[in-house]
Amino acid sequence: MLKHLTLCFALVVTSTMAHAQSKLETIASMSIIGDFVRQIGGERVQVTTLVGAGGDTHTFQPAPQDARRMAQAKLVFINGLGLEGWLPRLVQSSGSKAKVVTVSTGVKAIREASDGHSHGHGHDLDPHAWQDVANAKLYARNIRDALSAADPEGASFYTARSEAYMAELDQLDREIKQGLAQIPPERRRVITSHDAFGYFAKAYGLSFVAPQGVSTEAEASSRDVARIIRQIRAEKIPAVFLENIADPRLMTQIARETDAKIGPRVYSDSLSDSSGPAPTYLDMMRHNLRAFSEALR
Ligand code: ZN
Repeated sequence: MLKHLTLCFALVVTSTMAHAQSKLETIASMSIIGDFVRQIGGERVQVTTLVGAGGDTHTFQPAPQDARRMAQAKLVFINGLGLEGWLPRLVQSSGSKAKVVTVSTGVKAIREASDGHSHGHGHDLDPHAWQDVANAKLYARNIRDALSAADPEGASFYTARSEAYMAELDQLDREIKQGLAQIPPERRRVITSHDAFGYFAKAYGLSFVAPQGVSTEAEASSRDVARIIRQIRAEKIPAVFLENIADPRLMTQIARETDAKIGPRVYSDSLSDSSGPAPTYLDMMRHNLRAFSEALR
């Protein structure tokens, strides 16, 4: 009996070790996608995130170690929709043979608002599709399929994990809809620094105005800022929100010149680190929901 147990134990240890050695090496362009890959990939997958917590993927500049990481990866997960303009050069300079997986494939993309404050910096698609939970489910499916293709032995594992995660996303979607329904319709208006909530607005019926366009690459002009200040006063927009990736000075100025209050910091393009309020996508969306609800109700 004892001998049998020892043998079992030895087998378990050996298979665990073999498993640890053969993790699928992947790269995620930014923290939100890194979280999705971890949720679906679990312990079979090693995830390295290029743009980490609090980083700005629009303006990211890869370092030499990013090229080295890229060379080792089997899969590279990117958002697409024009978010990672720096990626093709990084892939090329690293000599990487990795398969690049665009996780937004299948998303119905929103075009950049053409209401006269487009900055003409060549971003005609809004890349922030993850702000609609229905799109996050699409991302999760694309990630499941890519992991299963690269690691067929793990296919049923990835399917089981993605199904459990989809159920959590469905629950999150219900929470957002119920939470925002509590806000009076005339108060469902928000100012953020850059236009990162277009998909959220469309899916959940909150309207957003931003002095910067869908990318942080271009600075807001003084004309844009003056226009927004007039709009806040005219429409009595209740609150402005600072984003974790943006310079707070502009929004502080806007709040000072209007009666809008400054709401809690919201997370648009990047998660927080593990000690912050938004270390995962689910946490990030719940944090933003609380922030909007508290400032607007
Ligand atoms: Zn953005």
